Amino acid sequence: MSKTTEIEPEEAEKARQLAADAERVIVKAGTNSLTDDESNLDDGKLDKLVDDIADLLERDKDVILVSSGSIGAGVGRIGYTGETVEESQALSTVGQSHLMRRYTESFERYDQKVAQLLLTQHDLENPERFTNLRNTIETLLEWDVVPIINENDAVATEEIQIGDNDMLSSSVAIGIDVDLLVTLTDVGGVYTGNPKEDPEAERIDAVGRNYDKVQAIIDESSSSQFGGIQTKVQGARDASEHGIPAIIARSTEDDILEKIAAAKPVGTVFVPINGVIDD
Ligand code: GLU
Repeated sequence: MSKTTEIEPEEAEKARQLAADAERVIVKAGTNSLTDDESNLDDGKLDKLVDDIADLLERDKDVILVSSGSIGAGVGRIGYTGETVEESQALSTVGQSHLMRRYTESFERYDQKVAQLLLTQHDLENPERFTNLRNTIETLLEWDVVPIINENDAVATEEIQIGDNDMLSSSVAIGIDVDLLVTLTDVGGVYTGNPKEDPEAERIDAVGRNYDKVQAIIDESSSSQFGGIQTKVQGARDASEHGIPAIIARSTEDDILEKIAAAKPVGTVFVPINGVIDD
């Protein structure tokens, strides 16, 4: 790995251990981690995600899932790619109920109950609404129910839009005091180039004081596409600045959450920091 993107190995190890010891974890899964090439919900992918979450639940951790896929699943269900915002919103309502049905069935395999929470920017910004949200989540976790969160796309027009679930998951992580944010995606973490185009690109093990250098690499190698690596890095960075370790990792890797809970060096870990980076 290039010297410019390294941080002290002890720092990275400590962050991995903190992540492994986390008692309360937010897992964020994107549309690609849940749907196939035709935009149908992929049962195999969804069950794999649920199996991975079950590994954390077996370790007595609390898990909150932030799941995208409502618009994607709606496209597969209706057989039409929306052309307008209104159509995407309508597709999300079709996909969201389908998504929740599949989550309910899949978690039933573990005799595990789930709950749906749909949020907008208002809910994150307004202290009273956020307190209500936090109380609901706390109650669900006390009852050992897995909260599944998505943006309320049916009503989230521009002024109340969160934007993407990378942002949503880090805001919730910060607001309800979780111990770890895991962002699952179709690449294995943050790379020194775009891994989809550049075979030489290497995975960066840990991000901390090297953040500016890593950010420069990302700016150069990736497009600022919605839901791309940039927003994932920003979300992980926000969480880590609030003292919460964050890991970006590949959703398709076997037992990915189990590996994280065993402090294995998978994905890219963001070292928790409180305060300003002095690099
Ligand atoms: N809320 C959108 C959906 O579930 C996606 C948001 C995102 O992918 O970040 O389809």
